[in-house]
Amino acid sequence: MADEAVATTAVRGRVLTFTGDPALAGADRSYRYIPDGLVVMQGGLIRAVGDAAALLRTLPPGSTVDHHPAGLVMAGFIDTHIHYPQTRVIGSYGAQLLEWLQRYTFPEEERLHDPDRAAGTARFFLDELLRNGTTTAAVYCTVHPASVEAFFAESERRGTRMIAGKVLMDRNAPPDLLDTAAQGYHESEALLHRWHGRGRQLYAITPRFAFTSTDAQLEAAGALARAHPTAYVQTHLSENHAEIAATKALFPWARSYTAVYERYGLLGPRSLFGHCIHLDEDEVELLAGSGSVAVFCPTSNLFLGSGLFDLARLRGRAAPVRVALATDVGGGTSYSMLRTAAEAYKVLQLRRQSWPALDAFYAITRGNAEALGLGNQIGSLEPGHEADLVVLDSRATPAMAHRRAGMGEDLSEELFALLTLGDDRAVAATYVGGRLATPAGAARVREAEPAR
Ligand SMILES: [Zn+2]
Repeated sequence: MADEAVATTAVRGRVLTFTGDPALAGADRSYRYIPDGLVVMQGGLIRAVGDAAALLRTLPPGSTVDHHPAGLVMAGFIDTHIHYPQTRVIGSYGAQLLEWLQRYTFPEEERLHDPDRAAGTARFFLDELLRNGTTTAAVYCTVHPASVEAFFAESERRGTRMIAGKVLMDRNAPPDLLDTAAQGYHESEALLHRWHGRGRQLYAITPRFAFTSTDAQLEAAGALARAHPTAYVQTHLSENHAEIAATKALFPWARSYTAVYERYGLLGPRSLFGHCIHLDEDEVELLAGSGSVAVFCPTSNLFLGSGLFDLARLRGRAAPVRVALATDVGGGTSYSMLRTAAEAYKVLQLRRQSWPALDAFYAITRGNAEALGLGNQIGSLEPGHEADLVVLDSRATPAMAHRRAGMGEDLSEELFALLTLGDDRAVAATYVGGRLATPAGAARVREAEPAR
């Protein structure tokens, strides 16, 4: 029996990986597709990607090969904005942002001061992400440091690459969810020292949004970001009209919502801003000029009635804004990045903007990896990259199989149907660090000894 740490495993199927952004490189030059491909993995990393016929012969004795004959093998999906404490408020009826927070989200977040409850929620959450093929996410915890500990401990146990942080709030939330500027700084820094760069875990400084932080707290968050330039910053920006008006009232000196974050040094290439729907031209320039990332959360924006993200406006300028895609569970209504991309397509339809399937699959893999500055580690299948994979079945449901039977071999047609009709049922398997992380699916044939 080979040593687990150095054992060679491989996944065989139809391999698809992106080499560039289809919107920039052109569709035909943006991806690599291998009809019978093999991804060879060892020690948590991808060692080789190529034709199965050639690579199978190179595997050492004792290697295991998971064969998904019809499966589409891609890099694991990446979700750039999600709240793990909101697994029990997803799908809560009838409110827009500020009321939704008060009525549903804050009471649930208060319950996560209990470390056992936090640990149980983290387990459910990570199970759910992996079932949906998501292997990396940028995650909001609660204001309680124990919620961050519980999350990172569970992620470390599973070997997933996750970004997370303690939410900072020192006003406009229930007393049990408030910290102070100094307390929030010190608790965040202690968590950052403990977890940032430990194994695959990364820390994000996480002021929830300007509405729930004082000037002093935002200033402290900016100081923390300057002291730790490799850490991320994540927050919300310009989601809802009532939120924008309330923020302007709290920061009367600011010429815009984005200018509040600018003032405190919170813009930059490692800063992720959820939503970015109702921006003025000056705000778009601030985001573009600072290299900040605007995070499009379509199911959340539709569910909370927040508005329609304007991709063409942010991307179609001389200095484009960097854009990522995310679920925003529990304002978002699905953990699936397939569903999320399908809803993004519909939002853009309402904007009369097109978004081909290749662009969508690029976005949820390599595009989101690059938005996180992790494009040389995750998001594509290349030797030396981390071995996080998803295997998709584009015939997963009767409706999908029926649809697929009516189409030819065109890859972009298959991808578009997979996106539009697919969800967690289309995820045949997820691999983290080279190991199967979901129950073995029926579509898989494990070959104990590779065929020679
Ligand atoms: Zn959010």
